Amino acid sequence: MSERILLVEDEEKLARMVEMELKYEGYQVEKALDGRRGLELALGGGFDLVLLDIMLPQLSGMEVLRRLRRESQVPVIMLTARDSVVDKVAGLDSGADDYITKPFAIEELLARIRAALRGKGGQAAQNVPLAAGPLVLDVEKHQVTVRGQNVELTKKEFDLLRHLLENKGRVLTREALLDAVWGFDFVGETNSVDVYIRFLRSKLDDAFGLKLIHTVRGVGYVIKEE
Ligand code: CA
Repeated sequence: MSERILLVEDEEKLARMVEMELKYEGYQVEKALDGRRGLELALGGGFDLVLLDIMLPQLSGMEVLRRLRRESQVPVIMLTARDSVVDKVAGLDSGADDYITKPFAIEELLARIRAALRGKGGQAAQNVPLAAGPLVLDVEKHQVTVRGQNVELTKKEFDLLRHLLENKGRVLTREALLDAVWGFDFVGETNSVDVYIRFLRSKLDDAFGLKLIHTVRGVGYVIKEE
């Protein structure tokens, strides 16, 4: 059975685009264009996840979240304007599970959605190791192995690899990787991604004679099995 997502967003063009992408991915989607309607639908229940814009007419996203949290622990991902750090902190304090800054790459949103839905599945679902061929990443143990052999990675390398594996087979742009791994406070060049991809290649592909991390020229990177 496909998961149901409630999208509360007043920018109609963005809402239509997100709805289309989510449906394409196999989710069921309901839309609300203002906070009051969004809260009403969310409280009605039956959703596996809520995507909640902060700046909404009638009732702000924060207020919707506060009222929703009195009754429901449904995962909520806040959609925030770029650089509004205060919103993010307030959102997480009010019980949001995650946030994503606009404008966002759709693959980034999809990754956050998958992560939030997995979280809801509880411990068992979370502890399934991520893998590509002989490469296994265990999130709980914070451990990476190839054919059972330990590979030492720095925190950034680990986070980057984890994000690639969570999106196995999906091409991720440098911007999406930067946003996911380095976060909203990152100031610098997108070639940091290239540098860390080189580190990962040397520790994984080169060291073990594999070809897991692929460059898609002009787009970004993807991890896939040989
Ligand atoms: Ca808005």
